[in-house]
Order: sequence, then C-alpha cells, then structure tokens
Amino acid sequence: MNQKNKTIGEVLRAGKARLKAAGKEAYAFEAELLLEKAAGLNRTALFLLDGENLSDEAAELYEGFLSEREQGRPTQYILGEWEFMGLPFHVGEGVLIPRGDTEVLVETILEKQQTESLKSILDIGTGSGCIPISLGHYGKFENIMAVDISQKALGYAAKNAAENNITIDFYESDLFSNVPKEWQGKLDAIVSNPPYIPKMDIEELMIEVKDFEPLNALDGGEDGLDFYRAIVEQGREWLKDGGWLFFEIGYDQGEALLSLLSEFGYTEIGLKQDLAGLDRVAFGRKGA
Ligand code: GLN
Repeated sequence: MNQKNKTIGEVLRAGKARLKAAGKEAYAFEAELLLEKAAGLNRTALFLLDGENLSDEAAELYEGFLSEREQGRPTQYILGEWEFMGLPFHVGEGVLIPRGDTEVLVETILEKQQTESLKSILDIGTGSGCIPISLGHYGKFENIMAVDISQKALGYAAKNAAENNITIDFYESDLFSNVPKEWQGKLDAIVSNPPYIPKMDIEELMIEVKDFEPLNALDGGEDGLDFYRAIVEQGREWLKDGGWLFFEIGYDQGEALLSLLSEFGYTEIGLKQDLAGLDRVAFGRKGA
C-alpha cells in the first residue's frame, strides 16, 4: 500500500483496516500505538494532526511495523516498550511481555506490606524486571534481589531498573543456585511468576505468544507446576520463619497450589483473583 501523500487520518484508518483483516482483536488501539511510534507523536498530537500529511519517512516506518504485526510479532516488541503498574519497561524478544494480570501479584505484596514487615524480597524469574521494579517504586523494601536463568532477560531487567531508578541486586541463577548464601533463612519474602503453562498446551497458545515470546518463560513442565514444586520446597531454606511466598498462577491451578503449600508446611495460605474473577495469585507463610 502506498501511503505517500496521505493524511495521518487516512493512514491510520488504513492501518486499522489492515490489522483488522489480519484478525488482530485490538486492531484499532494497536494501529494507533504503532503510528504514534512511527510518526514520533503522542496520542493527542495524532488526533490533532489528523488532516496533515504524514512524512514519507514515517509512512515507510509505519508500513514496516504493520507488516511485522500482520506476521504476528507482538505490538509490545515492535514498540520496544510497555507499561506495567504505570511504569515504563523496555521489552523485546527473549523477555516475557509484562501482563496486566501480574499487577494483582504486585498489589497483593504491597497490601501485605501494610501489616507485615517485609524488608527483603527475592524475585525468581524476573524477566523484564517488572515485579521487583514496581515493588521498589511503590513499596518500602530495603533489599530487593532478582534472579533469572536468562542473561538476555537480565540485560533488560538491569536497564529497566536503572531507568526507573530502582536499586536491585541481580543474579544469573537457576532458581536459588546463585543467590548469596548469606540470605539463607533470612528472606522476608519470595515472589515468582514462573513459567506455568502445561507443556501440552503450548501449541494452542496464540501465535504472538508461542512463536515470539521465550519458551523458557512459558513452559512449566508436564502439568505446569514444576517451578511451583521446586520453589515451594527450596523456598523453605531461604525464607525466615514466618516469611512469605507469593506466586502468580494459572486460572486453574489454585487448588493445586493450596495443596502444595500446605503439604510443605506453609500456613495462612490464600488465593487472590484477577479482574476477571479467576484465581491469579497464591500465597503462604513459612511455618516454623
Ligand atoms: N517476572 C516476569 C513477569 O512477570 C517474567 C515472568 C516469566 O518469564 N515467566 O513478567
């Protein structure tokens, strides 16, 4: 499609039509975000300048963005940035895109901090760093640590922490393997949004997820619970007595997490629901 000498409004309408035809549910919103990025305009300017011509350079960029999107690349990766808890995060291939659902996990911890002294926290599988960075921004922690097995993810997380002005100690680590031993038995809290999709279900995910997001951020093993089992068990060595464990979980994993947590001696176990009313967070407290 030749977008030369077309107005911003015309180009935008054509972009929406293309993404709609490609079956993208949020086609209108995405077409707008991509045009904002291509033209270097914010939302207000985009609409105010509706009747102005779009520069050739911006039109070419937009064309490229639309065709990437038509091929399934997530809008968030094309933009290279996404918001979580109102804060900006760099994202790209190799790092899971922060999800709105995960805000429920962060809010659960911030709420717990109102009544419990949570000074130290470790995030396992930090990805973009969205969890510890927003905890650092909105909470009152003294020590925030985060690990990931992926060096690439840690690159994003460190950059995101620096740009959001949050101090976090990052470790390249397979679960607890490289967490400094001095923290054994001392952590006030552990949080994780681990990979939790059952291996068999991965093929059925949207193209955006299964072909573009990192498999090692999704695959939770045969029943999706591999990482919960490992963290619930090993977490006991790292939490202080009375320390808290917080997980994001899949909508149908609530019952399994309740049993797992009680099997390993956690108390004050609970679940929290997301905006759709589905189980999304599981938590418990290390019994002495
Ligand atoms: N902790 C990151 C997030 O919540 C990454 C989670 C993951 O890769 N499974 O977005």
